[in-house]
Amino acid sequence: MINKWDLVESFSADYPDRWKMLLQSDREDAVKLASILTKLGYSCGRPTSSREKEFSWSFYVYQMNQDTISNVQAIVDDYKAGPDEFDLEKYLPPKIEKIADKEEVSTEEIEQAISVAVPEPAPAAKTVITEEQRSILLSEIGLNSRYTFDSFVVGKNNHFAKAAALAVAEMPGKVYNPLFIYGDVGLGKTHLMQAIGHFVLGINPNAKILYTTAERFMAEVIDAIRYGKIIDFRNKYRKMDVLLIDDIQFLSEAEAAQEEFYHTFNALYDDHKQIVIASDKPPKKISVLEERLRSRFEWGLITDIQSPNLETRVAILKAKAEITKMIIEDEVLYFIAEQLKNNIRELEGFLIRIVAYASLTKRQINKKLAEELLQDLLPEESPGLEMATTLPPLEEALAQSVAEQAPTPQAPEPPPVAPPPPVAAPEPAPAPPPEPAPEPAPPLAPEPEPAPPPPPAAPAPQPIPAAAPVSAAKGDEVRALRTGYIYPSGHDKELDLMIKNFADTIKKHKIKFKLDRAFAQTYTPQQSMDFGGMVSACRTNAIDLVIWMGPPPAENLLEGEFVRSLHAVFDKEKIPLQYLSLESVPKQYKYLNMVLDFAFLKK
Ligand code: ADP
Ligand code: MG
Repeated sequence: MINKWDLVESFSADYPDRWKMLLQSDREDAVKLASILTKLGYSCGRPTSSREKEFSWSFYVYQMNQDTISNVQAIVDDYKAGPDEFDLEKYLPPKIEKIADKEEVSTEEIEQAISVAVPEPAPAAKTVITEEQRSILLSEIGLNSRYTFDSFVVGKNNHFAKAAALAVAEMPGKVYNPLFIYGDVGLGKTHLMQAIGHFVLGINPNAKILYTTAERFMAEVIDAIRYGKIIDFRNKYRKMDVLLIDDIQFLSEAEAAQEEFYHTFNALYDDHKQIVIASDKPPKKISVLEERLRSRFEWGLITDIQSPNLETRVAILKAKAEITKMIIEDEVLYFIAEQLKNNIRELEGFLIRIVAYASLTKRQINKKLAEELLQDLLPEESPGLEMATTLPPLEEALAQSVAEQAPTPQAPEPPPVAPPPPVAAPEPAPAPPPEPAPEPAPPLAPEPEPAPPPPPAAPAPQPIPAAAPVSAAKGDEVRALRTGYIYPSGHDKELDLMIKNFADTIKKHKIKFKLDRAFAQTYTPQQSMDFGGMVSACRTNAIDLVIWMGPPPAENLLEGEFVRSLHAVFDKEKIPLQYLSLESVPKQYKYLNMVLDFAFLKK
């Protein structure tokens, strides 16, 4: 029985949104309550005896906000009123396969999980590894250091997916296996999967974890078969403790790939190893999937992520702004959150672009600016193939650029005397993305996003002064990039229009930046293209950037395949490439997006 309770702030530098639950109760009730809250998706610490006079037990509750505080209060009141009548179901949203339905999760298991899972203030001594070792490790596993549970904002839309992911991370292979997360693009599936990886690694630095995509898995299968390395391939996968497979909807129909995946799945499953799968649709709706795989995916827990509501979107923007130390008024955040409803990647992207813009044009970030930029920055649809790029994410380039500019005399504030305060933010992980296998034959399956595996993590975000000049910091100097243009023969008009549109955009926004034409070369779109000549033209001209205008749609060549081959080639050569399809050339709103990306490109 709980006689009395209180929920009080217990913030610390590491846990800025931590609260403490104080209970005057038996240990049993404290444990039970922590386990209920854990099942409902809150991250709770292990109950310990309380130092406060009036209370006997206490435990931490992490990642709290106004909403979750009142929810937790309601739950505790309810539990206090009648522990035996307490109905967990009431607090679960109806739509998702409920965690509470799963018979196999016992309270003991959850208790056991919370007792090992959540870091308590004085953790046991851990193996110390250097930053560099850590970043190498992360990149081998395929983890982006930004995608942790800590940086994942919980709302009604993802509460359950988060709870399930946390449960899995706490007890890999024991609770829900496989865990299948689905939802529309840009809603946080990859982030959550990766958070599982980080969490498991945090508890056990020796755990064998791998994050990969179905596409990469297939490419590896094909290579393994081609080079007679299938045994190595199997050994590699079957020794995993946690296998995170993203975008399973792109598992090809190819029998060999599905066969191999099926066996990998079975081997891991039989060994009680954790499998986590993400997809844009539930297993039932993935048409390429063989029935036997589909039914296996349904063995575990299937949970979805929905579009976030306004409050959650604002909370995400706030968290994002906080990480990058940008001070942006709530009014602006609300405005942005109202414009972008269905894709968090775009939501964040827009915020970053406003910051980049303000920084380049030395303007203040306010609602007026956000309104002005809407038209120029918000694509009418998600950036698809025609925006495909091998450029680094703007966010990272921006942070880096700020870091580099910081020591210049133009910096708006004198350098701080004291060492900077610890920032609860991602650590630098500059290593290249993991490339487990030899370069696969490029075109294999449709690609939904320009760069499916999350890029290697950026250096720790630096404070971004709201309107500080970033790229064009040195006086009135205009930054120029040597640009190579490659375009389909017979389309000189479009080339001219494109170049003009870039120039107009730069002029309109008074950005101190330009594209210098190093060369322009035509090509004939055809099924098998020789890219060698293009690459050497780029090399001899020492270009900073290639802008490739796409093939005419009439040609007998699938644009997706073509772009993927292009990327494979230019990525390998480390030549930044921007692809723009012919149809997109007249679309004005595309240009400012690209200009911002280019302006922060490293020379
Ligand atoms: P998906 O895999 O579903 O397409 P991602 O996991 O790649 O989406 O998420 C897209 C972007 O949105 C990432 O930068 C991710 O960090 C961010 N994001 C998504 N959901 C959240 C969330 N709940 N809290 C914080 N960031 C989020
Ligand atoms: Mg994803």
